[in-house]
Amino acid sequence: MAESFDILIKNATIVDGSGSPSFKGDIGIEEGKITKVGKIGEHGEIEIDAKDLIASPGFIDMHNHSDVAIMVNTSASNYITQGVTTLVTGNCGLSAAPLSKDSKELIDLIIPPQFKEKISISWTSFEEYLKEIEKAKPAVNIAPLVGHNTIRGYVLGLGDNELTSNGLNEMKELIREAMEAGAFGMSTGLIYDPGVFAETEEIIELAKVVAEYGGIYASHIRNESDLLIEATLEAIKIGKESGARVEISHHKASGDRNWGLVRTTLSLMEYYRRFDVEVTCDVYPYTYASTGLLYLFPPWTRDKGQEEFLRLIQKPEVRKKLKIELSRPSTTWENILLDAGFRGTVIAHSERFREYEGKSLMEISHLLQKDPYTLMFDLIAEDPHISVIVGGMSEEDVEFVISHRLSMIGSDGLVQEFGVGYPHPRSYGTFPRVIAEYVRKKKLLPLEAAIKKMTYLPAWKLGLQDRGLIKEGFVADIVLFDFWTVEDTATFMNPHSYAEGIKYVIINGEVALENGKLTKNKPGRVLRRWCYGNSAG
Ligand SMILES: [Zn+2]
Repeated sequence: MAESFDILIKNATIVDGSGSPSFKGDIGIEEGKITKVGKIGEHGEIEIDAKDLIASPGFIDMHNHSDVAIMVNTSASNYITQGVTTLVTGNCGLSAAPLSKDSKELIDLIIPPQFKEKISISWTSFEEYLKEIEKAKPAVNIAPLVGHNTIRGYVLGLGDNELTSNGLNEMKELIREAMEAGAFGMSTGLIYDPGVFAETEEIIELAKVVAEYGGIYASHIRNESDLLIEATLEAIKIGKESGARVEISHHKASGDRNWGLVRTTLSLMEYYRRFDVEVTCDVYPYTYASTGLLYLFPPWTRDKGQEEFLRLIQKPEVRKKLKIELSRPSTTWENILLDAGFRGTVIAHSERFREYEGKSLMEISHLLQKDPYTLMFDLIAEDPHISVIVGGMSEEDVEFVISHRLSMIGSDGLVQEFGVGYPHPRSYGTFPRVIAEYVRKKKLLPLEAAIKKMTYLPAWKLGLQDRGLIKEGFVADIVLFDFWTVEDTATFMNPHSYAEGIKYVIINGEVALENGKLTKNKPGRVLRRWCYGNSAG
């Protein structure tokens, strides 16, 4: 009697994640692991004929925001249909833990309004939070980061509050706790509150704790516009002085006068790697970003917290000053509105103004016969949680970053409730879009190189030593797709649209997508860094 596998994938074209050329072969899976790769004569309990399909490791989304959403939308359907098997959460400085139950402003920051009714907060520590995700049984794996904004908000509040040595020690302790619980590193979001108020020195001190564990420092850097180079150098400096492995998030140059600067920043990353700074970046394949409308306002409006912001925004003299400031480039803060314009700033989600979702500030301004600045002030005064999609990037820059050897792929999206709001289409289309648009159509890079950016590179960066390759002994996170038909279908006006061409997704050895259809399985796990030892590969 021949040996039998739990799952046997036959006749696939294997792109193994390492960047090496593809080859024909079979893949045998037993007890969640890949146990044989090559020509296999035995049988499998489940056999999948992959004659016309590519088999690659499951995609790892290096930059994701599903921290809270994964507890509600556990099926992660918009990611599994992209071939994604692991989400790296806690990005842009915002993780869902640690959380203080009596800090309403911190809870407001962490739990978006649309989830308020659906979630009861039962955790405070990072460890308790990870256990809650495990209880929720997500379909995909979660690799968590701890967020600096969350930690700073916990210790110092959200305003521009003075850092004491006690405060710094408390923050370090919270990061240590998160790292001990299994976090893969720390993230910052240096345009957001309260990270925008933090000095470089504070972050270096905190990143030193991360470095002790071999963790990563993932940063939404302080400026992606007129100060892009300074902000990139700050991230590199933090890595150099702390020893943490640096990951520059959703790398881009915003505003047409800054287009092309990504060539300089990537050269700087290459240059500083010579001095032992382990710096890489991630990128999503779109020329639009997404953020909170609140962050289109200069930081001084928010330095005393949100209540004060809402009071300020009503004052005629403040509105007058803001109109001038918002219409000019700045060398002290990132003027996102200037880069995107009112035409390029589209309401993605608002609990208060559902009727404006999908419309630009310019369109709404025409509709209401109101000047666009006044409109923007009036909207934020009634709903400070409005999220927007903002333009301002160039396609050539996106192409350059995607094809650079130091980049990997991160969607910057989150698991979605199908049909609700106008989220950025990246939540549905990122990974198939990279393959369809940049590999198949534009022939910008070989498939093997693109797959490496979605699999082995992020796994290596995170220190996930048994994922990211199709190799004997590795965990069976596998995607099978049709190279000729794989395609993103989500657009800005029709974002809730699943990608096509992804046929099978196997997570931890269980089938999560079968012939393009979601199964009932929920095989995801919370991945914890300490499973892999303290040193990264
Ligand atoms: Zn970000």
